[in-house]
Amino acid sequence: MKNVLVTGGAGYIGSHACKVLKAAGYMPVTYDNLSTGWSDAVKFGPFEQGDLSDRARLDEVFAKHQPVAVMHFAAFSQVGESMRDPGMYWRNNVVGSLTLVEAAVAAGCLDFVFSSTCATYGDQDGVVLDEDTPQVPINAYGASKKAVEEILSNFGESHGLRSVIFRYFNVAGADPDGEVGEFHQPETHLIPLMLDAIDGKRAGLTVFGTDYDTPDGTCIRDYVHVMDLVDAHVAGVEWLAAGKGSRVFNLGTGTGFSVLEVIEHSRAVTNREVPYEVGARRPGDCVKLVSGSVRAGQELGWKPERSTLESMITDAWRWHQNGHYDG
Ligand code: UDP
Repeated sequence: MKNVLVTGGAGYIGSHACKVLKAAGYMPVTYDNLSTGWSDAVKFGPFEQGDLSDRARLDEVFAKHQPVAVMHFAAFSQVGESMRDPGMYWRNNVVGSLTLVEAAVAAGCLDFVFSSTCATYGDQDGVVLDEDTPQVPINAYGASKKAVEEILSNFGESHGLRSVIFRYFNVAGADPDGEVGEFHQPETHLIPLMLDAIDGKRAGLTVFGTDYDTPDGTCIRDYVHVMDLVDAHVAGVEWLAAGKGSRVFNLGTGTGFSVLEVIEHSRAVTNREVPYEVGARRPGDCVKLVSGSVRAGQELGWKPERSTLESMITDAWRWHQNGHYDG
């Protein structure tokens, strides 16, 4: 069986990626420092605890498992936090990724799938966001991911690294089988926070700003089901193995929903009220992030079939009620 090194495999998206890799016939080897992930989420292959900044540990893991590819998820990913502490984002996301890329090249593992973000585009209302749109991030999170994209491009030119870069829009939902799901502590993302508010685990949700230039005044995002997202990653590994070379793909559905629309869908799916109040804008938030690309569909054959708001909220709600990690 071919091994794939999955950094951040104990986290939300990484754990779902491990599940689909295993189902596709690969052995996912999780590399994670458990700073935000859970050892309970590592269910589909071996676990190697370690930090991205630890080159010696990375070298050891590459030598032991001889992966055919890397899927790199391990990163800090909160816009608000990145504005409060940008150094943390540059150190972990950029310096950590550079260390990983150098270790991969040294080990001769040249197929690299990277988890990037639509936050690299920044605030470009009225512009169609496709892979050729100039990247002008407005928060440190987006800037850190854009820097890693540049590292991958440079290492491609100089060392033959081949990368598939996925720029995700907003990832939501959970494994419909309930084996893995989204569990952050503290939680900062809209849908899990809303579900917490619905079942009384928190007092209520704060809507970050209702004075944006959108139809209802709240920010608009393009939500993608985590299972659809990780399916694209397996297709990315196969794309590289087939020798198709480095490529960037947006992963979004092309449909945007406002914060108030997400609240309304959650009320309908759960049949419960969503207690919320209106608060101030969150620094670093873009007004509207919706993919304008069809490339992943055309070239990877990607079909985000589970990515309706109803299905994402239904799967997240099921996980929310039954699933959690203890450690
Ligand atoms: N949001 C909100 N209240 C919250 C969390 C998020 O109004 O408690 C909004 C946020 O301003 C953004 C959208 O929900 O417009 C999605 O935010 P999230 O943090 O889930 O993802 P991001 O878009 O920052 O990656």
